[in-house]
Amino acid sequence: MTVTQGPALRTGEGASSPQEASPPVLLRTRDLVKDYHGDGGTVRALWGVSLDVGAGEFVAVMGPSGSGKSTLLHVLGGLEAPTSGQLWLAGERADRLSPAAWAVRRRSGIGIVFQAANLLSSMTVADNIELPALLAGATARQARARREVLLDQLGLAAKARVAPARLSGGEQQKVALARALVNKPALLLADEPTGSLDSTSTTEVLKLLRRAHADGQAIVLVTHDVRVASHADRIVNLFDGMICDDAPVAMPRSRRAAEAAPLTALRRS
Ligand code: ADP
Repeated sequence: MTVTQGPALRTGEGASSPQEASPPVLLRTRDLVKDYHGDGGTVRALWGVSLDVGAGEFVAVMGPSGSGKSTLLHVLGGLEAPTSGQLWLAGERADRLSPAAWAVRRRSGIGIVFQAANLLSSMTVADNIELPALLAGATARQARARREVLLDQLGLAAKARVAPARLSGGEQQKVALARALVNKPALLLADEPTGSLDSTSTTEVLKLLRRAHADGQAIVLVTHDVRVASHADRIVNLFDGMICDDAPVAMPRSRRAAEAAPLTALRRS
């Protein structure tokens, strides 16, 4: 099955990084500030975040609760406008796009998965996954084929015809991830997609994320799980709404290989 990447987020001219070996920049922010105004006054959730994410790059965002991780993801996906600062998506200035223009970019170019699965309760699991594909212009046959592959990869093939309410919280999270990936978006934004998963499901989700990464999709993933973060190219740490650390994952190849190897390989010895 071939799924073409949404046209909205192809990296364009002028988006290239100065370093030749680096991938072109897919997402760039400069001095992003986000304030929330409420009854108790103003809360500054982001204090000037500057970040580049290359096309196909896998970035894990970590940090304590309240450090601004979810807010950053919401701003990167156009779900909330920044108070100030700049955001570019594939070379295009995006911080002042209208909600409608963001919706168009998200439809096929950006997949988003939240902590809450946000599935449509009146639809089956299968229809929940197919809907974004149909909205992005896939034929019914294409949408069905993509859904079947994803449900298989997530161990949910037997649940295709049930309503989301009949799934466990972890299964609902996996369906939400399948929804976000069904259009093979150039950018996946995921807020703790393994937050309520057992270890088997976490492994399935990690496999799916690694496959998306290998296919050239960029991933920005909020997680508290070091095991999940260790699969990223880079870990960005937030503290009090600021990036306090941004470094490549330095994991020895041998450890990656050991993690990728099936348990049977150990049992043989
Ligand atoms: P994290 O994801 O790291 O837990 P958040 O981005 O959810 O952090 O929150 C960062 C700060 O912004 C916190 O102080 C939080 O209370 C505040 N905040 C987040 N969303 C809202 C909102 N909708 N209204 C008011 N304050 C908010």
